[in-house]
Amino acid sequence: LENYPSKHLETAVNELSKLPGIGRKTALRLAIHLLKQDEADVDALGRSLVQLKKAIRFCKTCHNISDNELCEICQNPKRDRSIVCVVENINDVMAIEKTSQYRGLYHVLGGVISPMDGIGPTDVNITSLVQRVTPEKLTEIILALPATIEGDTTSYYIHKRLKGTDVLITALARGINVGDELEYTDEITLGRSITNRIPYNHPSGK
Ligand SMILES: [Zn+2]
Repeated sequence: LENYPSKHLETAVNELSKLPGIGRKTALRLAIHLLKQDEADVDALGRSLVQLKKAIRFCKTCHNISDNELCEICQNPKRDRSIVCVVENINDVMAIEKTSQYRGLYHVLGGVISPMDGIGPTDVNITSLVQRVTPEKLTEIILALPATIEGDTTSYYIHKRLKGTDVLITALARGINVGDELEYTDEITLGRSITNRIPYNHPSGK
């Protein structure tokens, strides 16, 4: 059992240890580090976190993070508006943008279907993707989801939902190993797997 000399310290450790990859030992180390900082710096950190949640919005078209109603990518007239790349999270958009190999638009699902975790098709932004196809005259949808069971399930579900439309469905060339998250793939491999994307085919052939 941990014995904290201060209730405030304990509260800070509790909150910090809720972050991904932060155990209670690390949380304690961070809290002690913060105690040694200038009050102004700690204040700036606290305010930036509150603002992060309060002020940042999500693009109403693609659900990318944005300071405005539409994100910078959706607003950019130089982007190819006929192609949409479907990703799990905002960090995937950042990873693909870093490759400079893609000039189309995005659609951020905000998660993948995972029945084990109670995440169903309506918990991720799939309906809004389907609703973009006709009005935006999309010609291609690239499924750039993680090579996991959940990623594959989600790709297959999207493929089923898009049946009956003319849109071409493609997937990243799998230079990416099974289980790899997009954000951990190096830029060259990721760039290449976008450039060399292949028509989407479900393993079952359906
Ligand atoms: Zn957008």
